[in-house]
Amino acid sequence: MSAHQLDPLDLFDLRSELTEDEAMVKDTVGRFVDDRVIPLMREAFEQHEFPGELVGDVAELGLFGSSIEGYDCAGLNSVSYGLICQELERGDSGLRSFVSVQSSLVMFPIHAYGSEEQKQRWLPAMARGEAIGCFGLTEPHGGSDPGNMKTHAKRDGNDWVLNGSKMWITNATIADAAVVWAMTDEGIRGFIVEKGIPGFETQEIENKFSLRASVTGALFLDNVRIPEANVLPGVTGLKGPLSCLTQARYGITWGVIGAAQACLDEALRYSQDRVLFGRPVSHTQAMQIRLADMARRITTAQLLSLRLGRLKDKGEMSPSQVSLAKWNNCRAALDIARDARDILGGAGISAEYVPIRHMLNLESVITYEGTETVHQLVVGKELTGVNAFG
Ligand SMILES: Cc1cc2nc3c(=O)[nH]c(=O)nc-3n(C[C@H](O)[C@H](O)[C@H](O)COP(=O)(O)OP(=O)(O)OC[C@H]3O[C@@H](n4cnc5c(N)ncnc54)[C@H](O)[C@@H]3O)c2cc1C
Repeated sequence: MSAHQLDPLDLFDLRSELTEDEAMVKDTVGRFVDDRVIPLMREAFEQHEFPGELVGDVAELGLFGSSIEGYDCAGLNSVSYGLICQELERGDSGLRSFVSVQSSLVMFPIHAYGSEEQKQRWLPAMARGEAIGCFGLTEPHGGSDPGNMKTHAKRDGNDWVLNGSKMWITNATIADAAVVWAMTDEGIRGFIVEKGIPGFETQEIENKFSLRASVTGALFLDNVRIPEANVLPGVTGLKGPLSCLTQARYGITWGVIGAAQACLDEALRYSQDRVLFGRPVSHTQAMQIRLADMARRITTAQLLSLRLGRLKDKGEMSPSQVSLAKWNNCRAALDIARDARDILGGAGISAEYVPIRHMLNLESVITYEGTETVHQLVVGKELTGVNAFG
């Protein structure tokens, strides 16, 4: 290696742009992923099982609700949250999804829109990993159009009565509390639905070929009676759930970089070791172009996410910027994973190597939290001022 060789996974030395605290977060989570996460993930994926034994460690590291100040949370900045997502997803998108849902889709709305009593009850317990949350927005008839939700809540005395169902919900069957979004006469409201309450059932979705180390399920609400104290008082309308999605999508833009880095790392190593036609296949022009293209895409994604994180920390990030980065970075990571799979030849379909697992996971990540088309249309609307969804 020459003295001037750049880090193949960080060609533009983004590390030097991080503060000391941010670099420390990245290194700490990175070590945890190398030591504890990566050794478990292959089996968790193969067994279609969430590695619950990691929850305590994740909590101990302060990774749940890491952006929240107080309530036993770490109070880190947005770039640090992004780096946490990146390192976790270098291990597996399933674990990153678990942390994203708990932090951005459950703790964020309770913190931003909840009553003080709701915050005291849930946030410290969730930060410690003693309570798990899920986020129920998507319904079976079409996740891309959440404003058309059928789940509804009606006032009945001091209570609300909820009916409907939610589909494709991460953590559904392991959650102690679900933040469920339902239509009311006043518009969409958020409800904290606790496990075990009469009329509330969950069911796991079996046989997934993607995010197998993450729990996904359905929520069923049949005349579920919710006290007013469990309604999020601070928000009405679609902007409630959409603001949560903006937080989570921001984290995804970073997370998928980690998955892509793991794939480039494997492809690089494999192509250097693989001798074909008398020389390592990495010495061929065709292979170098493919590897260079992966590095180009990763670098672009890194620059987008870091810029987005700095904007977010200044309070200047807009949802359409998040859409552009979610679209770009998920597409880049999925293409990289597919190409890395191919670079490994037949070995690429084996779980002994990481690309096939990341590739299958990324098929979910490019779909959830807004499909690629949805994000393209958000950017199109930003450019033209015209809503082309309908
Ligand atoms: C593993 C996994 C975990 C998930 N976790 C959660 C969760 O925790 N909570 C939650 O609420 N949801 C969750 N989701 C749901 C996810 O957000 C939805 O799957 C996603 O929003 C897409 O919705 P849909 O599956 O109903 O597809 P649809 O909305 O039915 O879309 C079908 C197709 O139509 C395209 N399309 C949509 N609109 C347009 C248009 N205007 N013009 C042209 N094409 C269009 C889409 O791009 C897509 O290709 C999860 C999904 C998965 C797979």
